[in-house]
Amino acid sequence: MDSSIKRVALLGSTGSIGQQTLEIIRTFPQKFKVVALAAGRNVDLLVKQIQEFEPELVYSPLKLSLPRGKKYLTMEEIVSCPDVDIVVVATSGKIGLIPTLTALKTGKRVALANKEVLVMAGEMVIKTRQYEAQISPIDSEHSAIWQCLQGERDKVDRLFLTASGGPFYKYSFSHLAEVTAAEALQHPTWKMGRKVTIDSATLMNKGLEIIEAHWLFDIPFDKIEVIIHPQSIIHSVVEFTDKCLKAQLSLPDMRLPIQYALSYPERLSNPALPSLDLCQMSCLNFEPVDYDRFPCLRLAREAGEKGGTYPAVLCAADEVAVEFFLNNQINFMTIPKIIDRTLELHHSVEQPSLDEVLVADIWARETALRIAQEGSQ
Ligand code: MG
Repeated sequence: MDSSIKRVALLGSTGSIGQQTLEIIRTFPQKFKVVALAAGRNVDLLVKQIQEFEPELVYSPLKLSLPRGKKYLTMEEIVSCPDVDIVVVATSGKIGLIPTLTALKTGKRVALANKEVLVMAGEMVIKTRQYEAQISPIDSEHSAIWQCLQGERDKVDRLFLTASGGPFYKYSFSHLAEVTAAEALQHPTWKMGRKVTIDSATLMNKGLEIIEAHWLFDIPFDKIEVIIHPQSIIHSVVEFTDKCLKAQLSLPDMRLPIQYALSYPERLSNPALPSLDLCQMSCLNFEPVDYDRFPCLRLAREAGEKGGTYPAVLCAADEVAVEFFLNNQINFMTIPKIIDRTLELHHSVEQPSLDEVLVADIWARETALRIAQEGSQ
């Protein structure tokens, strides 16, 4: 094979980011080759992807009949394979954590879309990284900051993470208590999976992004701000020490950050990506974020600042609470209450090991479940 072709292992190939990653790879067959696919429940789509991309290696928790010559491996075996150059971690939840650590240990570049990896174990992940560009963020905000920082990494004053505000940003406190899962799943500017769409509506998504930004760019929490920007055109802003601001702009389309994470440091010309017509943008609005109406943002910031196993507990409790909300068992404003109560009951471990993070995760799931069941009766 042409040695300039990057060999990609894609974990989470059937999710939204996974499918868009394959779209980029399909557009640039001379640049990227899929050597491994891993997916969870969507077997039908995985089978189609295997037929199209013909990866050598496959992971699925359900046994499929693989074409001749293709091998089943675990995700850890896949990411340690010497035939892999880039690992795209497009899974969600804690499942991406161990494969990411293994990929970094074996010197692979990781294009990271799985938020929980850095939130649950940021310190461990950053310490395992062997050089800075070994992690390429796929999240649009972190990709924006990463792009703004090219060439001037150490003169940063503040980061501004932009947030669309989700579908309910203008709602009053009492109105928020009445919103349904179906309404929350209608995001105004981004098309995403169900869990992250609810996290965008509660602003937990932005809270997790604060913690991710802290670890990725080594910036203290009090220098990371969130601003509401409903148009989702500016994907984040860096303020430098001389007060110069740099921002990254583009139409909201995850294919751009995915493509940049794969092609870095190169930029590729992709005709499928829409051009932003600045004259069509009549205005770009910004406003401060309201921590009172969106308590998840405050809970995430506090958990990040306190560190230890608090962020892992935050993630796990949020997953449980969001599941209850999606099943119409609790109301929207009960989500932060469940997370808050779980965090209050937690005894954190400082500088946790991987095992301690995973134990905290299980404890938090059980605790949040009990609190949610009590609250939903
Ligand atoms: Mg984001």
